[in-house]
Amino acid sequence: MKSDIGLIGLAVMGQNLVLNMDDHGYKVAVHNRTGATTEEFLAGPASGTQVIGAYSLQELVDSLNSPRIVMLMVKAGDVVDQYIDKLVPLLSEGDIIVDGGNSLYTDTNRRTATLKEKGIRFIGTGVSGGEEGARHGPSIMPGGNKEAWPHVKPIFQAISAKVGGDPCCEWVGDNGAGHYVKMVHNGIEYGDMQIICEGYQLLSEGLGLSADEMHVIFDEWDKGELSSYLVEITAAILAYKDEDGAPLLNKILDTAGQKGTGKWTGINALDLGIPLTLIGEAVFARCLSAQKDERVKAAEFLARPKKAFTGDKQAMINAVRNALYAAKIISYAQGFRLLREASSEYGFNLNYGEIALMWRGGCIIRSGFLNDIKQAYQTNPDIENLLLADFFIDAMRQAEEGWRKAVIFGIEMGIPTPAFSSALAYFDGYRTERLPANLLQAQRDYFGAHTYERTDKPRGEFFHTDWTGHG
Ligand code: NAP
Repeated sequence: MKSDIGLIGLAVMGQNLVLNMDDHGYKVAVHNRTGATTEEFLAGPASGTQVIGAYSLQELVDSLNSPRIVMLMVKAGDVVDQYIDKLVPLLSEGDIIVDGGNSLYTDTNRRTATLKEKGIRFIGTGVSGGEEGARHGPSIMPGGNKEAWPHVKPIFQAISAKVGGDPCCEWVGDNGAGHYVKMVHNGIEYGDMQIICEGYQLLSEGLGLSADEMHVIFDEWDKGELSSYLVEITAAILAYKDEDGAPLLNKILDTAGQKGTGKWTGINALDLGIPLTLIGEAVFARCLSAQKDERVKAAEFLARPKKAFTGDKQAMINAVRNALYAAKIISYAQGFRLLREASSEYGFNLNYGEIALMWRGGCIIRSGFLNDIKQAYQTNPDIENLLLADFFIDAMRQAEEGWRKAVIFGIEMGIPTPAFSSALAYFDGYRTERLPANLLQAQRDYFGAHTYERTDKPRGEFFHTDWTGHG
């Protein structure tokens, strides 16, 4: 009996996806560059399953039902192209290659087009949720050549996370749409993590709360509008004790790593001219954290103001909660605004409500909040910005005062809140009818004759002034 799907790449994601597929009754053939890993997998985690090993690509391809589906779960970048180049001569017209790694969407655009010319149908899909998601139900965001989708859909929807019975997996759009949406998802993940970290620092260093006290607070927050996987694990992390009984968190070095998807999201936002300030700040905050030695030196010479908090602690805890919620709304509003721009710029034809649904389960940013986003798009699929949806207008009204209080608190104490405060600046800018760009245009016209439009003339008419009167 032949296999339903072949999977290449038996690192953490690949192994867990294979076991997940096997659980759902699919017969999987596996291949890995290093054959010993395949042997260990078959003898270990995959023993007792129907998974079969293939020690060459020819063997893998020969073991598959037609049309053949070969999924790559390997290191993103050149390795994907190398495998595609080796697979194409072994495959037949109509066969399908799926790339489930974190590939850059422009690579997926290119691969979809070049493989189509060769008669091979390509899918580039985001797979979220890390090891745990891959094993028990990830969020899966496929895009590429839609002709391939009916063949892959039953497998992907079976293994994906389910919320209320609905699979967290739906066709996202043509070409690189799936990897694009996964990239923005990862950017949003950077933002969510950063705002939680800023809340944590205001509570710990600003209010002097202990890890145990903060555990209780985050646990409480997880029961309300902030309910999410990341808030839940933050509560658990705060409670975790090292062997000596002290919180392990306090002993972890404060330098953050990153793999690049947040940076890609920021670069793309700059390319498309969309303010994605919160995610941008989240990426830069990781960069600043990595400059540990310089920061230690600067802390010596540029010490922060030494102030003790003397106000109402509970009121400030509530203000931090408001800041976290408001900043989260801004981050998603910015992220979905970027998706909107990309959808029209790249012809992805994205369905925003479906995307919110896909992220409700199986991924790191899963939260109840995504239901509110889905609802907003259901009410008005063409809404320009989530900040204009009734639900979020109301939420911002309620959170704004506390949010400002929390940002001011950080400023006074010298505690950095780049995401909270840049989100507030975006909010204030977004709802300002008249920004100082009139002066900016005047400056551009003064030094560069770049011209300007006038408020008392129709749009599209451009004027230049000889500002110095010297011709
Ligand atoms: P990974 O560490 O990104 O990649 C390891 C796999 O790639 C191994 O099978 C390895 O084979 C193969 N590989 C690496 N270099 C190769 C080369 N030059 N030629 C042939 N094969 C090569 O694995 P992963 O963490 O499981 O991730 C797989 C993909 O999913 C990546 O694109 C990753 O970004 C994405 N992803 C990861 C996560 C996560 O939480 N880890 C979450 C979502 C998405 P060998 O065993 O022979 O070295």
